[in-house]
Amino acid sequence: MTNWTVTTLRIGELYLQHGGSLMRDPVHVWLVRGEVAGKSVRILVDSGMADIPTVLARLRVSGVGGGHASLTAVLATEGLTPQDIDYVICTHLHFDHADNLDLFPDSCVVVQRAELMAAVDPVPSQRIFYWKSTINNLMGRKRPAQLRLVDGDTDFLPGIRLLSVPSHTEGMQVVVVTTEKGRVALVSDLGDHYRYWFPADPRAAAHPLRSLSDAFLTGNIRSESERTWQAAMRRVLDNTDIVVPAHDFRIPVHMPEQWFAIPDSTDGDLAHVPPVENEI
Ligand SMILES: [Zn+2]
Repeated sequence: MTNWTVTTLRIGELYLQHGGSLMRDPVHVWLVRGEVAGKSVRILVDSGMADIPTVLARLRVSGVGGGHASLTAVLATEGLTPQDIDYVICTHLHFDHADNLDLFPDSCVVVQRAELMAAVDPVPSQRIFYWKSTINNLMGRKRPAQLRLVDGDTDFLPGIRLLSVPSHTEGMQVVVVTTEKGRVALVSDLGDHYRYWFPADPRAAAHPLRSLSDAFLTGNIRSESERTWQAAMRRVLDNTDIVVPAHDFRIPVHMPEQWFAIPDSTDGDLAHVPPVENEI
């Protein structure tokens, strides 16, 4: 089946330290809608972050939005409530991608088995990113209809494929959605801005790196080696038509209506928080 649609929903922003200033990091979830065997199916890819007061208390990171209120509000803009969601596919279980699961007690959460193990016993540098609220919620899902653990690449539904890409985390997965225009890869934090995917392209990167014209930028928060991460990005790019990074302001909102592999310009790649507190 190829008639899936993907809608980007922004549930808030994190303000992250970046080279001495605060940068705005948008937090998204994606609504994937289609039909299987004549029945409508609604999938949420990632469930987003907790509310900012909670994030501030735990990580000393500020921002706007997040939590139940923001997620419920963005679903309402699409005429939906959390009860309407059949599946929540988590790309990974970090706090900004897999909180709010208590809004979806009867939906089926889909995650890589390796990622659940990573959440229980993370690499040390990631202990702060896996929250008990996520782990406790998953452990409380006693019925098979509430939780599906997958192992490796998985054809989840016709036109929905999960690619196993250990890199940023041990059980990272990318959701590939086939639409009438082509395959959309919801790549999450495998490369969370376009500049990671196209580091030598001036439309994607404000400071293009010619030395990376046949390669990628990889992230600092990682469980695997750079070579493993590079190979994962290559595999995703070779098997899909467009990539949609998790934390870039420029990503398309309605797919396939909006369709571009690379944005027009770097505007919106890095956005400062106004005012920048430590420059006043
Ligand atoms: Zn992450």
